[in-house]
Amino acid sequence: MMIVVIDGPAGAGKSTTAQAVARKAGLDYIDSGAIYRGFTVLYNELKHDRASFFEAIKQERLRFEFDRDVSRVYLDKSEITEELRSPSVNDNVSVVAAMPEVRNQVTVELKKAVGASDCIAEGRDLGTVVFPEAELKFFLTADLDERARRRQLEMESKVEYSADSKFQNVKENLQQRDTIDSSRKEAPLQKAKDAIELDTTSLSFDRQVQIITEAIERVRTQRSNSNSQ
Ligand code: C5P
Repeated sequence: MMIVVIDGPAGAGKSTTAQAVARKAGLDYIDSGAIYRGFTVLYNELKHDRASFFEAIKQERLRFEFDRDVSRVYLDKSEITEELRSPSVNDNVSVVAAMPEVRNQVTVELKKAVGASDCIAEGRDLGTVVFPEAELKFFLTADLDERARRRQLEMESKVEYSADSKFQNVKENLQQRDTIDSSRKEAPLQKAKDAIELDTTSLSFDRQVQIITEAIERVRTQRSNSNSQ
């Protein structure tokens, strides 16, 4: 079993890259941001009352399912995957993700999600805290303006969020999340020492997928060579 992780700031292309690599190289895909976003839907539903929120976490009202292409989230019996990208979740997710109670629970879920097959997981602290033992670690970055442009395009493609997709608003949300994610005490966004950094500002999408897929193939070849010796 091989674990590949991609960390980096919002909008650097982690999800689309990880999904494409998963399809190409036949890996399971795990979106750790979806889990933090699921907790944020619950936090919003409880009107940001921390005591009720921590109680609800203990009651395990959230459930996660990791399909090959998409990480699905259920609150009680209803699927909330579509709500995960809403502006109200974008605005609150970094505050929720900075709570140690939430991080501990998410780390447990992520470790559970890894099965017997090779997988690629993406987030902020996967190479440093959750899967320090991962065979391959990547850290994806891109200029803030480029990240905001990509996020804006993604939001415009979703009818329900297009009204909130003004460039300046999208950029401010990314900047705010970068600041909270990088400066929090617990598991801040950080490049692992042994991670390969890819600046995707002017890298083509196909090229970044190719770089990661080739690295996976190299590890697989090394493994099968050492097994046959
Ligand atoms: O990757 P995505 O933008 O969906 O992540 C949403 C938020 O979840 C991030 O801004 C961050 O606050 C939090 N997160 C985290 N650690 C992870 C993944 C996501 O703190 N491993």
